[in-house]
Parts: sequence; C-alpha cells; structure tokens
Amino acid sequence: MSLDPGLYVAATPIGNLKDVTYRVIEALAACDLILCEDTRQTAKLCAAYDIRTERRPYHEHNAERVRPDILSRLKKGARICLVSDAGTPLISDPGYKLVREARDAGVRVAPLPGPCAAIAALSAAGAPTDGFLFAGFAPTGNARATFFRRFAQVPASLIFYETGPRLGESLQDMANTFGDRTAVVARELTKIHEEFREGWLSDLAAYYKQQTPKGEIVVVVHPPGREVPSAQEVEAFLSAALDELSVKDAAVAAAEGFGLTRREAYERALRLKAARS
Ligand code: SAM
Repeated sequence: MSLDPGLYVAATPIGNLKDVTYRVIEALAACDLILCEDTRQTAKLCAAYDIRTERRPYHEHNAERVRPDILSRLKKGARICLVSDAGTPLISDPGYKLVREARDAGVRVAPLPGPCAAIAALSAAGAPTDGFLFAGFAPTGNARATFFRRFAQVPASLIFYETGPRLGESLQDMANTFGDRTAVVARELTKIHEEFREGWLSDLAAYYKQQTPKGEIVVVVHPPGREVPSAQEVEAFLSAALDELSVKDAAVAAAEGFGLTRREAYERALRLKAARS
C-alpha cells in the first residue's frame, strides 16, 4: 500500500482485536513510524497482524520533549501513525498538541477512524442519540459535583468515562446533580464480560456502591426532561385511562403525557381496548 506523507490518527481496538479496519492495518504496516501511548500495548496488535514497523512512545510524560523531532520529520515528508492504547487517539488520550502543531505547520493530518468506547456505548445503550455530549473523565473529590453541574441543563445524552472504584460515588453525584434520570453503565465493551446495566441513577449508585465493578466503564445518562417511555409504562397508563375515558380521549392524554404522536397513541389504545373485550 502506498501512503502519502502526513500524520495519521489511527483508531485501534477497545478490547476485541478484530475491531480494527483494513485501512488502519495497512497504514500501520506501510508507515515509517508508529507513535504509541504504550509500545507494549501496541505490540499486541502488531503481533496479531504481523506489523513490523518501528514503534516509539508518545505519551503525556515525553510528548513535550519528542514533539519537535516528530514535527521536523513530518515536515520533511515522513508518514507517521499515532495510536493510543485503545480506541481513538485524542479522545481522553494524548495527541491534541501534536495534531494542532502539525496542522499549524501545514502537515497533512488524516483520521483513520474506528473504535471509540464512547460511541460504542452510545450506539447500543438505548439512550437518545440525536444529540449527545461527551464529557470524558470527571475529576475526583469535591470538584466532581461542580463538574457535573456544568452539564445538568444540556438537552442531550451525556457520556462519561469512569473507573470501577469511583463508579458508585460518581453515579451518586450524578443523581444528586441531574435528578433521577435513566442511565446506562456500559462495561468491558467488545470483551468477554461485556455488560450493559440500565436503571435510575440512584438505583445504579446504590448497586455499584455495594459492589465495585471490574474493568473499563462508560456511563451514558439520558437527557433531562421527558424520558423515553417504555412500552410497559405507556400500556399501564392507557390501561388506567381506558377505565374512565374513551379510546380517543385516553389516546390524547397518553400522547400529551408521553410525547407520542396522537396516531401512535390511538393505535396503542385501540389495541389495548380490543384485547380487553
Ligand atoms: N481513546 C479511548 C476511546 O476512544 O474510547 C479512550 C481512552 S481513555 C484513557 C480509557 C477509558 O475509556 C476507560 O477508562 C473507559 O472509561 C473507556 N473505555 C475504553 N475501553 C473500554 C471498553 N472496552 N469498555 C468500556 N469502556 C472503555
């Protein structure tokens, strides 16, 4: 594969080693240098796909020191891939300054898209996806509640990264700050023990304060205001409404209460009425 000069921001698996694109594998094999958050971690991927390209560390402790040399090589036409230990570089991972300075220097910077834990969690959590905000890791201690308050009014699903030991307290702070919204704890995505646990923030907080989960975690919080109603909730409401109201009036009440279209609510009410008679 021929690779043009430039910096390639390459996404790698977040667990399952098969979750990597052909393009990423080809670029890693063809480039002059792979910059790794941790060379030992990237060695596993390279071993799996027989990639023998030179690898060098690029992480928060050496970035300032090694960046000038990397930029100088890029300006001379090198083809360099940037990877992190897992997922998409720069997403709660190193690389921002390198990308910024490469662009400022007129170097071509291209994404090689692929896995990202935030998007993987959102795609399967069942939370609204028309708008979402990725907030990364919350700080520890007292700063956490202040951090969450910044997002309390955002009319979108919220995505946070968390660690097992902090999860219970973090969910409790979320419940205190956001009110009791529905949330999903997505754990060990793409791995053997992958798990999605959905519930009210307060229930999830109580659960995870009792038992510290293992592995890697994404928390997806539903937007404020109207929750997406479950079929059971709508049915229970309609069932009670039909005891006192006509199908049409029960449907209007359900539509207003749950944000359904009148037609959808009417069809559900009609089905329920028919099932009763
Ligand atoms: N750059 C990565 C990405 O694109 O998702 C994120 C790197 S950040 C340092 C690591 C955090 O991402 C973990 O602490 C966890 O919150 C989340 N994460 C990474 N892999 C995950 C997985 N397989 N399942 C759940 N969360 C994961």
